[in-house]
Amino acid sequence: MSGLGKGITAASIGRMLMERGYKVTAIKIDPYINIDAGLMSPFQHGEVFILKDGGEVDLDLGNYERFLDVELTRDHNITTGKVYKTVIEKERRGEYLGKTVQIIPHITNEIKERIRTVAKESGCDVCVIEVGGTVGDIEGMPFLEAMRQLRNEEMGNIAFVHVTLAPTTTDGEQKTKPTQHSVKEMRALGLQPDIVSVRCTKPLREETKSKISLFCDVPVEGVVSNHDVDDVYQVPLLLEEQRTPLYLMKMLRLYPLEHRTDWV
Ligand code: ADP
Repeated sequence: MSGLGKGITAASIGRMLMERGYKVTAIKIDPYINIDAGLMSPFQHGEVFILKDGGEVDLDLGNYERFLDVELTRDHNITTGKVYKTVIEKERRGEYLGKTVQIIPHITNEIKERIRTVAKESGCDVCVIEVGGTVGDIEGMPFLEAMRQLRNEEMGNIAFVHVTLAPTTTDGEQKTKPTQHSVKEMRALGLQPDIVSVRCTKPLREETKSKISLFCDVPVEGVVSNHDVDDVYQVPLLLEEQRTPLYLMKMLRLYPLEHRTDWV
């Protein structure tokens, strides 16, 4: 859900891969119909972040620039508005050769094409893609479907990280039901998370991790305690302590670059 920490999680994962010598870039997907954040009320959406090419985007792009030490452009922010605008313009030019233009495959193809173009042009080894919004939102569906297709097309080169919430009761119990339900919702869309990054106030207990692992079908190493820290720049360290980057690298067959010695 919004304001949970998806942006910080994505930026932190990218940073830890960058620390291992990989060139990392990031893409933010905002499922809203606005073309960009330029005309959105800061009271509703938070401040707008301006990119070097004048792109007016979500603040998460600022997190990516700071965490990954990169300069991004407006193409790194994909919105429903941008995708539909392009598809409708192509349709008007007759580029679909009279076919019925549909969400699948035309919208999903446009999403995948935009992702591939940005990743290729940036020359990155790893592209972190944040799909904003909540699993189950109508607006987000074409993007999640595009991700599902992308996983099949890029078999073995894509990992899904799902950011969830584990609320704590007044007596300190960490509840896993919201996480279980959102994973169930994801699986209904054909998406199985490889990593579940759980936002919580205090570090996740071992038994909470085991329960999430069991119910969500994710190995316990893939269940990450993403608890509250005083400073968001500590989040990459949080992941490092739990060996999340190594787990992710193994999954993606990203072998350690030579100067690194901590590969296991
Ligand atoms: P989302 O992308 O899900 O909307 P953000 O990544 O922008 O959320 O984070 C929302 C807020 O939560 C930000 O103010 C961020 O600083 C804060 N935040 C994220 N992760 C943590 C954490 N582990 N500890 C403390 N604050 C966090």
